[in-house]
Amino acid sequence: MKFSDLGLSRELLRAVDEKGYTEPSPIQEKAIPVILDGRDILASAQTGTGKTAGFTLPVLQLLTENPPRGKRKIRVLVLTPTRELAAQIHDNVREYSKYLDVRSTVIFGGVSAVPQEKKLRAGIDYLIATPGRLLDLEGQGKLSLRDVEILILDEADRMLDMGFVHDLKRIMRVLPPKRQTLLFSATFSKDIKKLAQGFLTDPVTVEATPENTAVEVIEQTVYHVDKSSKTNLVIKLIAEGGWEQVLIFMRTKHACNRLAGKLEKKKISAAAIHGNKSQGARTKALAGFKDGRIRVLVATDIAARGLDIPLLPHVINFDLPNVAENYVHRIGRTGRAGATGEAISLVSAEEYGLVRDIERLTGEKMTTKVVEGFEPKLTEKDVAQEASRNGGTKNPKKPKRNRRGRSGNHSGGGNRGGGGSSNGGGNKRGGGRRF
Ligand code: AMP
Repeated sequence: MKFSDLGLSRELLRAVDEKGYTEPSPIQEKAIPVILDGRDILASAQTGTGKTAGFTLPVLQLLTENPPRGKRKIRVLVLTPTRELAAQIHDNVREYSKYLDVRSTVIFGGVSAVPQEKKLRAGIDYLIATPGRLLDLEGQGKLSLRDVEILILDEADRMLDMGFVHDLKRIMRVLPPKRQTLLFSATFSKDIKKLAQGFLTDPVTVEATPENTAVEVIEQTVYHVDKSSKTNLVIKLIAEGGWEQVLIFMRTKHACNRLAGKLEKKKISAAAIHGNKSQGARTKALAGFKDGRIRVLVATDIAARGLDIPLLPHVINFDLPNVAENYVHRIGRTGRAGATGEAISLVSAEEYGLVRDIERLTGEKMTTKVVEGFEPKLTEKDVAQEASRNGGTKNPKKPKRNRRGRSGNHSGGGNRGGGGSSNGGGNKRGGGRRF
């Protein structure tokens, strides 16, 4: 299929052509006609599928088919969980609306509201916002949502994860009930379905590349290693592999800072990106990473979510996420735009249960490797025994203090992962799968 088969205007096709896209991605092919038809959609699509153009192009078309009368009013509202994602969507909107008479802007917290208010006063058709700042400005009467015709909830699952559910409900209350609503989410949990029921009217369900397909183009390797050796293994892999653009995921902000500091000490330029960093610091880190000044970006899931980093050859999971679906989000950062990527997970014995959860979700077995000199000394059984000594909880995610040495029970480099022992209660899903 060609973009010109989708019913988009000449101005939009020209902008798309200038971006160098030759054909629509699957989500674009499916979502664009439905949105142009005025229907609500419930779309499963993660970052990297081309979902931003998938909603931006038809929405711009709808806006311009029905030009504004009198003063410009906010007619399109995009809600996103993070500032970075909001800024990226705005960049996209600007590019695609290059040949159209559409005014867009972006508002988010963490920076002064004054310039944002000034832009709003000038009249805006298309607003991209994070929920908090939007509610602030709406509460102060600095913007009105009364004329919104199209609402887009992007990365809705992440908005829920980040605790925005009440903000979303408050926003809904000030939006006109008669509107077109587009909900994008990488996962379809029970909560997302509930949200969709409340916010959408007779939606068409649109599925992009099922997540598993996205996973298949990415080479996934698990390195078994003790927790205490992970930092040194990361340094070795990056330094000896000559890796130039590496995104590392970690669970906590603190750990991100620490690892970035250690990499810097080894002369590997690195920056941490997480919620405690100022907006300026985050933007600078991301820009440095994109232009090659920063070789390694160490990020939490939330901070990295939605970042548009083209052609990312290496993603490292320093630790595995607690929720298997987040693994799919993380590794979705590699192999975008058809390029292949490599996703590496450093897995200690505490995390074997999580590996099984992930394999169950993706339906794929991951290749396992052990690097010479980094052979794990602890087995899953050691960890379980230690956990029961320390009070009985088998949850492998909880790091136990007071690790008492290495019980002679070497796994000796073979026989990993498949021991069939307890799953540590880690997998709470099962039913409610997305797509
Ligand atoms: P998104 O999923 O919206 O974050 O988009 C991921 C990346 O794919 C961005 O860098 C887009 O510029 C790019 N992209 C979007 N649509 C297409 C397309 N039809 N062909 C090639 N690249 C695209």
